[in-house]
Amino acid sequence: MKLVDSHNRRIDYLRISITDHCNLNCLYCAPLRGRTRLAHEDILTYEEIQKVVEAAVSSGISKIRITGGEPLVRKDMVDLCRELSRVRGLQDISVTTNGVMLSELAGPLFEAGVKRVNVSLDTFQPERFKKIAGHDLLPRVLAGIKKAEEVGMHPIKINTVVMRGVNEDEVRDLARLTLRKPYHVRFIEVMPTKGCALGVPASLFVAVDEIIKMVKRVGLLSIEKVAHSFGPARLCSLPGALGIVGFIAPLSWHFCDSCNRLRLTADGQLRTCLFSEQEIDIRGPLREGASREELGDIFKMAVNLKPAGHQLKKSDVRIPKNLGRTMQAIGG
Ligand code: SAM
Repeated sequence: MKLVDSHNRRIDYLRISITDHCNLNCLYCAPLRGRTRLAHEDILTYEEIQKVVEAAVSSGISKIRITGGEPLVRKDMVDLCRELSRVRGLQDISVTTNGVMLSELAGPLFEAGVKRVNVSLDTFQPERFKKIAGHDLLPRVLAGIKKAEEVGMHPIKINTVVMRGVNEDEVRDLARLTLRKPYHVRFIEVMPTKGCALGVPASLFVAVDEIIKMVKRVGLLSIEKVAHSFGPARLCSLPGALGIVGFIAPLSWHFCDSCNRLRLTADGQLRTCLFSEQEIDIRGPLREGASREELGDIFKMAVNLKPAGHQLKKSDVRIPKNLGRTMQAIGG
């Protein structure tokens, strides 16, 4: 079965946030201090997530990503991944993490069927990491990435949010990582969003064209080939590199035409677009005993409601966008 939306896009990818809690407080992502977290009873249980995934897969979803908050902080998340990886018809399960707990969990996750992982890493400098993420945990993140590689996860994708005056001077060092490691290092334009610790001011924004220029200055190297691109990232490789450099530019380049995804929040709401506040409740019907077919119908409805695209332009960077929730609560 295929899920095709009213703009003729095939929707086969579901990002699932399993918690809105995080062990870091990244300035572009975390809620303002004092914000309450979702109530325990509002969060989908693992059995409920399993039912949603079974319905999603029987409706046409073939890839899922577990995200958060920080997904690795939720108790027994490895067991959830093991169960989900056994869902018939599911072709791919991956996890997005800040890496803090990855050195302990990479092995068990790999055994449970998670063969690849995305790790957020904005800096190689411990002091800077503490400023961005609110905790002095860079060594643990680096150890987590190393462990993921050792247990055989591939590809390891490093997500770097580039911010003016914060870490823009490290773009080249991060790109250079691909010369010695088979990682995908993906530079992301910061999305000016409301409700986060800093309110993500426009002054942090660095447009992708400028990021590309920084990467091109890696020594005398230049970007030489654009690899097969999939998902929102445009991919390039530096000459002789083992890995790949990617650029994700939600404001400068819209990738809405190829959008293939839905998002499920930890409290069971389906979001049709990261930048739209529209949410479709699946938790209510689930708790009222909806059948797999009925849950599948909710997926079809959400897919039909997907907007053609978000209307944000680079010039809108001055108007921080209200997503209805913080990024931490949506899952990126
Ligand atoms: N805790 C996990 C992590 O750190 O990767 C998963 C959740 S996090 C919300 C997912 C992704 O969203 C991260 O790669 C993060 O860098 C990105 N993100 C969060 N807020 C952002 C923003 N304002 N602009 C761009 N990317 C953002």
